[in-house]
Amino acid sequence: MAKKSKNNKKPAAKVSVRDLLRVGPEFDLSAVDARRIVAGPKDKVQALAEVGALEGEVGDLQERLYAESRGGGKRRLLILLQGMDTSGKGGAIKAIDRISEPLGLRIAQFGAPTKAELKKHFLWRIEQKLPTPGTIGIFDRSHYEDVLVVRVRNLVPPEEWEKRYDEINAWEKKWADDGIVFLKCMLFISPEEQKERLLARLAEPDKHWKYRPGDVDDRLLWNDFMEAYRVALARCSTDHAPWYVIPADRKWHRDWLLTQLVAETLREMNPQYPPTAFDVAAEKARVQAS
Ligand code: AMP
Ligand code: MG
Repeated sequence: MAKKSKNNKKPAAKVSVRDLLRVGPEFDLSAVDARRIVAGPKDKVQALAEVGALEGEVGDLQERLYAESRGGGKRRLLILLQGMDTSGKGGAIKAIDRISEPLGLRIAQFGAPTKAELKKHFLWRIEQKLPTPGTIGIFDRSHYEDVLVVRVRNLVPPEEWEKRYDEINAWEKKWADDGIVFLKCMLFISPEEQKERLLARLAEPDKHWKYRPGDVDDRLLWNDFMEAYRVALARCSTDHAPWYVIPADRKWHRDWLLTQLVAETLREMNPQYPPTAFDVAAEKARVQAS
């Protein structure tokens, strides 16, 4: 039996946030309460303090991940964010940025594909942005748009998008086997909260750039989008690339949950420094003599 380590004093979450939020066979998206506090601190100040407290540990794990790749390791982390407009993907990226080393982060954003991108397979442009060994990638939207907005708006015929779920699973498996650890997160807000946030954007001229009139058109199709999310989560939450659903009406709780997911994942990856490739004593002597 494993002995409990005595110096295990870290205020780590008592529950596994991954276990709590993971989309399994019984998962029901319609039962998620976007305002609920599902774990951790019940107030903003404490939650943000705990987010900040992860910085040292996550930075260290990130450095080890990078060092591992310098020794030939191929592992890297891909944090994929999906959610309706105003669900907080940008805010979530800031929270991850806060606890990590900027040099090891690769952020990619996916809007509507260009004409040139449309001529290629839908996974092509995604593949261009995958994180390289030793780094952490963040996707603000992703290939899932190709079974979400594309499905809801009939941008390709049903027989086309229907095939994509299996294609996505096979493609993610290929990259998981190549060393990518997937952390796929849906930021789940309620339609009421979205209304507030859209109105807040309209109320402030400095926020108008974030508002697109098209956001309201998507909002009017809320139920269709939720149905498309339900199917994507059910069909593409796999052992090699599971989905997590984050209740996101409260920004500080969203950030707490997401950063715990990131920290838990990196801890489990447990990246290792590569073995020293030279004779330390001999090198010391050389440096002394130089
Ligand atoms: P935003 O993330 O708010 O800047 O908006 C990006 C927009 O691009 C959203 O309306 C997405 O639905 C849209 N988008 C992203 N990927 C695709 C795609 N593959 N096909 C069509 N629209 C997309
Ligand atoms: Mg938007």
